[in-house]
Amino acid sequence: MIDPFGRAITYLRVSVTDRCDLRCVYCMSEDMTFLPKADVLSLEELERLCAAFIRLGTNKIRITGGEPLVRRDVQLLFGRLGQRLGQGLDELTLTTNGTQLVKHAEALRAAGVRRVNVSLDTLDPARFAAITRWGKIEKVLDGIAAAKAAGLHVKINAVALKGVNEDEIDAMLAWCGAQGHDLCLIETMPMGDIGGDRTDQYLPLSLVRARLRQRWTLQGTDYQTGGPARYYDVAETGTRVGFITPMTHNFCESCNRVRLTCTGTLYMCLGQDDAADLRRVLRDGATDPELDAAIRLAITRKPKGHDFVIDRRNPAPAVARHMSLTGG
Ligand code: SAM
Ligand code: SF4
Repeated sequence: MIDPFGRAITYLRVSVTDRCDLRCVYCMSEDMTFLPKADVLSLEELERLCAAFIRLGTNKIRITGGEPLVRRDVQLLFGRLGQRLGQGLDELTLTTNGTQLVKHAEALRAAGVRRVNVSLDTLDPARFAAITRWGKIEKVLDGIAAAKAAGLHVKINAVALKGVNEDEIDAMLAWCGAQGHDLCLIETMPMGDIGGDRTDQYLPLSLVRARLRQRWTLQGTDYQTGGPARYYDVAETGTRVGFITPMTHNFCESCNRVRLTCTGTLYMCLGQDDAADLRRVLRDGATDPELDAAIRLAITRKPKGHDFVIDRRNPAPAVARHMSLTGG
């Protein structure tokens, strides 16, 4: 599928639940209301949509959320999608907060998952509890160890937060280096009401990179994982550090992704409100060709890019929905 700006759409991110066992301060408010079950697609419906995307040229699927591993029976979906690896699908992966990885790592590997992104913004237990509002870091560290032991390649995702973890990014790069994990840093994006002002948390990664360069030798590389990060080799550790900079650099030109929510809403852009209701198409009894046509039509509406801006005079989110709905 080629969008109106000539970009091939080959990467689907699927949020399988909006629920989560944590409440990261930049992502959710403490008293989030979650979707009623009836609105959420069944695993069979999710699989049918994924199959349609694979038919239409999608070769990479990332399962995300909310927290994907809190969805009951999610391994059934991994198992079914894993069977499509090598048959149109090249990569099946997930983004997780890691709290349930001890339980799931082996099954993920058996389903064909080879790489997993684990979100971890700090190595300090008290800070972790504050950022996630109640999380226990040991569970995540145990989960990461379990993933590694199961033979999964782990990448650590950290949101760079001003005044929260900016003094620790250096130490996190050292820790990731010692553990053999790549580190990917992300700027906060103004998505969804979080019950506070997010402009206080915004830290431009251009600044973080300049600071890291004072201690580490960062060599630009062409390494790509099919996502939006720009990677550097860290000479001292032999691992990589990536930067996802939606705010300071327009990451839209090479966008190859669309996002499906757990309600079957297809967002063609993380930062725009336009969406296609694929649940309605499914539940109206569409045939496969009709479903494919609805997806193709949605892709013709993919916009050129997002309009995120950090505006201190207007701290309202740029898009009303939360990242946990669209999937990070
Ligand atoms: N629960 C899983 C996790 O935390 O990895 C998957 C979903 S989470 C929404 C995916 C990623 O989005 C996480 O790395 C999280 O840190 C990031 N994220 C959430 N809200 C964000 C925001 N407003 N700006 C930037 N990144 C955000
Ligand atoms: Fe949950 Fe992930 Fe959002 Fe944190 S970032 S609240 S772990 S969905």
